[in-house]
Amino acid sequence: MDFDDSVELADFRAQVREFLSANAEPKRGDERDWSRNGAAVDPEVAADYRRRCHAWQKLLFDSGWAGITWPANFGGRGLSSAHQIVFNQELAQFDATSGFLAAAQALVGPTLMRHGSVAQQERYLGPLLSGEESWCQLFSEPGAGSDLAALATRAVLDGDTWVVNGQKVWTSSAQHADFGILVARTDPTVPKHAGLTYFIVDMKSPGIEIRPLVQAQGVAHFNEVFLSDVRIPADNVVGEVGDGWKVTRTTLRSESSMISGAGQASGYAAVLSTARRVGRIEDPIVRDALARVYSNELILKWMGWRTQTAVMTGRLELALHGSLLKNFFTRSLSHRVGLAVDLEGAEGMLSHDAEGDGFWQYQLLNQFASRIGGGTEEVHRNNLGEQALELPKEPSVDRDLPWNETRRA
Ligand SMILES: Cc1cc2nc3c(=O)[nH]c(=O)nc-3n(C[C@H](O)[C@H](O)[C@H](O)COP(=O)(O)OP(=O)(O)OC[C@H]3O[C@@H](n4cnc5c(N)ncnc54)[C@H](O)[C@@H]3O)c2cc1C
Repeated sequence: MDFDDSVELADFRAQVREFLSANAEPKRGDERDWSRNGAAVDPEVAADYRRRCHAWQKLLFDSGWAGITWPANFGGRGLSSAHQIVFNQELAQFDATSGFLAAAQALVGPTLMRHGSVAQQERYLGPLLSGEESWCQLFSEPGAGSDLAALATRAVLDGDTWVVNGQKVWTSSAQHADFGILVARTDPTVPKHAGLTYFIVDMKSPGIEIRPLVQAQGVAHFNEVFLSDVRIPADNVVGEVGDGWKVTRTTLRSESSMISGAGQASGYAAVLSTARRVGRIEDPIVRDALARVYSNELILKWMGWRTQTAVMTGRLELALHGSLLKNFFTRSLSHRVGLAVDLEGAEGMLSHDAEGDGFWQYQLLNQFASRIGGGTEEVHRNNLGEQALELPKEPSVDRDLPWNETRRA
């Protein structure tokens, strides 16, 4: 690994530090940091978090720090991924984030830049980058998640508008979104991947009903979205009619690189302090488990550094497969939070009444967001089998059948 910046990157890093020091507080690593409130249960704290995310993104935009890798003609700085990594490394030390807005930008931005019409790019990319408009992703359905191309939401052309009917689910932040990226079936008589079209939908359109799904930990991160005769102008098709799978793949690729890049572990100190609090620090079995948490954390950090070095030195052959990073992160997370709750013994069965307002109980339930979102662990194992180990692809019996002849949930 090469930890030294080139002269250009060192200069860039100094500029980033100067900007961040002038505009954000250093992270304190505890509840005083607003940037850790993304999953807050208290609605006022959650609303304050969203407001600050918008304000931070607007500041980045107005100061020329938004869209570091976006081409200049789309409002970005046209710099490399290495510059983005440097920015993220420095930002990690400050109490500031664009949170859910950054996730939407990572999905929608590359998709519209690659497949959108000039009119769509001019209309949507600016407010997306400044954070003035927020977006959600209307892909998954009750019968289509890992096998997304099986989706059943229908869009039928009526004059110059598409009429959409169907149901989406797990739609993160739909209740706060101005627009959605939506994939719907426009031709059910062709194989499942061929009959899809990708749309931009105004979330305030008549016929859209959003029902928040309250999770076990008490927050409503995602929603069910019902679409009943929702009318979408034909100009809102992204790419070609029937070619939506190609556009969708661009979004999914951006999503998996965002998620694998976000895989950071930092929990050893917290689980160690729990072991001390419950007086189990001398127990050899506990010590063994703590050593595993510590090792996992170091390994994950080194895996991240290796990938960053690959990007920063242009030696992409050294980069690790994103599925490896994601699954190592989620396995480590699962082990760490399971250990912490076990250490708490009977207290571990409490919820908000447990030590630290139920910090570990929240983490235990929340682990499934990472383990399922952006592709499940099993699906990422399939990716590794097929793409890294070059094992045969799993059989797909309905790939070439017309969608309306396939068996569906
Ligand atoms: C926190 C979070 C946020 C999300 N946000 C969004 C969002 O904003 N927009 C959106 O559209 N979706 C979103 N999702 C949905 C997410 O993309 C799906 O949950 C995911 O793709 C899995 O689909 P599913 O839930 O339908 O499970 P299924 O695909 O039904 O899978 C069920 C089980 O079968 C296993 N399985 C399925 N296929 C295979 C296979 N081929 N080989 C081996 N095992 C298999 C899975 O691993 C899983 O254990 C979000 C999910 C989470 C957890």
